[in-house]
Amino acid sequence: MALPKIVTPEYTIQLKSVKNPVRYRPYLVKEEKLFLTAKESNDPKEMERAILQVIKNCTFGELDVENLPTFDVEYLFLQLRAKSVNNIVDLRYECRNTLRDEAQRTSPTDDGRCHHVVILNVDLNNIAITTDDAHTPVVTLQSGLQVEMAYPSMKTVQAIQGEGATTSTADKVSQMLLAALKTITTADGTVYDVRDYTEAERLEFIDELPVEDLRSFEQFFTTMPTVRYDVPFHCDKCAHDETVTLQGLDSFFT
Ligand SMILES: [Zn+2]
Repeated sequence: MALPKIVTPEYTIQLKSVKNPVRYRPYLVKEEKLFLTAKESNDPKEMERAILQVIKNCTFGELDVENLPTFDVEYLFLQLRAKSVNNIVDLRYECRNTLRDEAQRTSPTDDGRCHHVVILNVDLNNIAITTDDAHTPVVTLQSGLQVEMAYPSMKTVQAIQGEGATTSTADKVSQMLLAALKTITTADGTVYDVRDYTEAERLEFIDELPVEDLRSFEQFFTTMPTVRYDVPFHCDKCAHDETVTLQGLDSFFT
C-alpha cells in the first residue's frame, strides 16, 4: 500500500501585471530545501533563482516568472510565505534614536544612539502593492513622443545591478532604459514597437535624447508600484517612536 497523499490547498492572487487572478499553492518541503541550499551558498543570485523557481512551481508553471515585474514577484513571494509558513514575520529592529550628543559620548565607538533591539511583528497579510499617485506607465518626452514603458523584471535588475555586473552607472541607466522601452508613439499616431529594433538602434535613440527626458524616465522608476510596508516602532527603553518602512524582500527577512 502506498503512503497517503496529502492534498495541498489552492489559492488565487491578483497581481498588477496579470489580468486574471493567478492560481497558487503553498510551498512544500521540497521547495523549502531549495531555499536552504540557496541560503547556504550566501549568493544573492542563488537566492533570487530559488525564489523564482519556487514561484514557478507553486503557480503550476502558468506564470512567465522571469519577466514578471519585481513588485509582483515580491508581493507573490510574501503571500506564498504567509500561506506556506506563517503570516507573521518577527523582525529585529535596532533603535536609532540619538540619546547623547557628541560632548556626552564616553568612547570613540559610542555613536550616541540607543541601539535597544525591539522585535517588530509584521503581518504579511497586511502588505499590499502601493503606487505613487503621480505614476503613469507612459512617459511623455520633450519632443512630444509618447513612450510606453515596461516594468523591470528581477532578471533585468539582477543583470544590471547584481553582483558581477560590470557596467558603469551611465551604462546602467542606458541598460535599464533599453529593457524598459516598449513602444514609441509619435504625434501623428505612428506606433514603433521598440523590440523590433536592434540594441544599437535603441541605444542610439536613448543617447540622442535631451537630458531633461532622463528626468521623466527617472520619475517613472521612482514612482512605479512597490511592495512597501510601514510599521510603527516604539522603543520600550527610551520611548522613541518612529515609522519603519520595509521595502524589498531583504528588509522582510533580515
Ligand atoms: Zn531606544
